Amino acid sequence: MRVIVVCHTEYGRVKNREIIYEESRVEGVRKGVRNLVAIAKRHGAKITFAIMPEVVKYFPKNINDHEIGLHVHSGWVEKRYKSFRWFVGDKYLIEHCRVSVNSAFLNDLSFKDQLTLVETGRDYLQDAFGVEPKVFVAGRWSENNDTITALVKSKFTHDLSACPHTPRWSKLPRICMPYHPGVNDYQEKGDLPLLIVPISKFFPFGDVSPEAASYVGLSTLKACFVEYYRQKLPLFHIYLHSASMTDYWFCSMMDELLNFISKTNVQFSFASSVDDYGTVIPRTNLFPYLARPEATTIRFLSSVKRMKASITRETRVIETPRAYWGENH
Ligand SMILES: [Zn+2]
Repeated sequence: MRVIVVCHTEYGRVKNREIIYEESRVEGVRKGVRNLVAIAKRHGAKITFAIMPEVVKYFPKNINDHEIGLHVHSGWVEKRYKSFRWFVGDKYLIEHCRVSVNSAFLNDLSFKDQLTLVETGRDYLQDAFGVEPKVFVAGRWSENNDTITALVKSKFTHDLSACPHTPRWSKLPRICMPYHPGVNDYQEKGDLPLLIVPISKFFPFGDVSPEAASYVGLSTLKACFVEYYRQKLPLFHIYLHSASMTDYWFCSMMDELLNFISKTNVQFSFASSVDDYGTVIPRTNLFPYLARPEATTIRFLSSVKRMKASITRETRVIETPRAYWGENH
């Protein structure tokens, strides 16, 4: 089994074990990246950094043995959460691309606009790092057929933006192995020269990320790994945000998770090394979840309730388009 770790490298900070994506906070890039590399090194893990163009200038120098990919957040859209307000978007892309729609969801943009963002971001990363990025992550998992066409045209080989059980990836099963998408439907198998590499999801519908440990516990993430590992699935895909690696508790969760995984027979890899593994039929196996130390019925139901509350909270975030667009074009 290959294990990949993909770090969405962008602005933000941690407050009470939640990430607040304030665009003025870049400590996740300056320090979080270094912390994650140090943790990965202890366990022989490899990290793929999907970087927003806007934060490239803050990415630490002299980080060896890592992989660079592109992370695109489109638009310039205000978000409010509790007492916090910030803008989702990428100032570099806003200032260097002329696009016609202001939306934080890439799939709301035309093919031409998506291609402009992807190519501009790719070229900027190539200039900054001296390597052409081959892997891609869309902000908010927001893709459509046009995104896939734009990625193929821009010579990306791996797309790490698939999050099963979310609106734009609703056709994918919870456990989904890498596949080449079709021309007419990016959620169906086809023969396009791009490999979609979905993130791993624990039962019943949560993302495998150290950040999820705050509401389901680390043991659920370990149980999910065991569920995948015992049936010899070829891939386990962990993702996280750079901001979380500025927080001691999230760092310790990541450290423990990688430590647990490293004691098994896995191969830590960069995302660009992932293959198409052909026909694999995964099965749900509840035993690892039920065997968790805290897996009494009441605790399990309460962790599911907390997870649902967290997801609802996320979808309640208010979004307001703003005139920044007009100021720049
Ligand atoms: Zn992001």
